[in-house]
Formats: sequence, structure tokens, C-alpha cells
Amino acid sequence: MRILLVEDDPMIGKSLHTALQQDRYTVDWVKDGVAAKLALDTADGAYALVLLDLGLPRKSGLDLLRGIRRAGNKVRVLIVTARDAVADRVAGLDAGADDYLVKPFSLDELAARMRALLRRDVAREDNVLRNGDLALDPSSRTLTQAGAHVDVSAREFTLLAALLERPGTALSKAQLEERLYGWGEEVESNTVEVHVHNLRKKLGAEAIRTIRGVGYVIAKA
Ligand code: CA
Repeated sequence: MRILLVEDDPMIGKSLHTALQQDRYTVDWVKDGVAAKLALDTADGAYALVLLDLGLPRKSGLDLLRGIRRAGNKVRVLIVTARDAVADRVAGLDAGADDYLVKPFSLDELAARMRALLRRDVAREDNVLRNGDLALDPSSRTLTQAGAHVDVSAREFTLLAALLERPGTALSKAQLEERLYGWGEEVESNTVEVHVHNLRKKLGAEAIRTIRGVGYVIAKA
């Protein structure tokens, strides 16, 4: 699941970035409000959640939030900031934030708040991806085959989710790499092939088909 982290403090940003990656999220980290706006404008709904600092260079977090809400962007936003005055919290929620966390906070609390927000999406609509005997739940991050739990790595999960979003549509290796890696992360060569190989071992050789010269596809069941 892809998260946009908007934080200009290098220490806090780095620790959050690391912690979120360990929690198996794909993280894009931007350090000012203008870069965040650009990321959101071009993401086309790819972010499950935005972690937003308020005091930011170039464009404040509140201005950013008001702007994207005015434009109809409903992405989940969790404000993470040192401003703890009640007026600031109210302003954040009024501007369209879904929740508010005041620094310093524990990473456990952040993780719990994030899970709660991501669950809220599921309550609104069942976004489990199903095809044939496969069911992949992006919010609980679980995969089942014929009702039985299948253990997969974070990247295998992400790759499978990309293919299950559009069964019958082939995705190229480059498209899959883009889903697997955040910005600035080094793409290891053959990584897509390795994940596909491992997924076939777990789900059956026919689960993912190779279309020569095009990419990979999960046949529409
Ligand atoms: Ca800041």
C-alpha cells in the first residue's frame, strides 16, 4: 500500500520513512508543500493515506489540505505535527483531515491510527480484490486462496495486488517495478521475475501468465 509522507524535518522524516517501510508500506517522502501537491496531483489515487506535517516550506500543510479537498480529492489524511493548540487541531480537522496526531508520538500509536483510517475505507466499500479462488484484502494485507491463508512477502503482495486490480490486463515489467518501489529506491534487476517465480510456487504455476514481450497477467476467472 502506498503512503505519501510529507515532512520537512529530516530526522523525523527519516525515522518515519524507515518505520513505515518496516511496516511493509511503499513510501514516497516529500519535504515541502509544493512537492506534496505535485505528488498528489500526479498520483491518480495511488495513495492510500497521506501523513501530513503542517509547518512546511513553500506551502503550509493546511493550505495544501484545503486545496486538495476543494479539488475533490478524498484521500485519507492524517496530520502529524508539533502544533498541539486546540485551535490548530480544529483548523486541521476543518480543513479536511481525517485524524490528528501530535508530536512526539509513539510509532505504535501512529501505526494504530493508520490502520484505523485504512479500515474506515473498507467499511465504506468492500475493496477486496477477488479473482477465481484468490482474494486479496489491501487493508488487512491478507491473501487467501480457496479460503486458505497464503503467506507472501510485502513485495509479492504488492505485485499480486497490481495484477488483481485488472485481471486479464497484462502489466509490463516496468509498470510492476513502478508499483514495487518508492521514489529513489534502487530497483534490483530481475526482481519482478523472482517475485513472479515465488508467487507461482505458492499459488500454482498457472496463477500468473507470462505474455512474451509484453509482461504478466492474471487471467480473468
Ligand atoms: Ca515541519
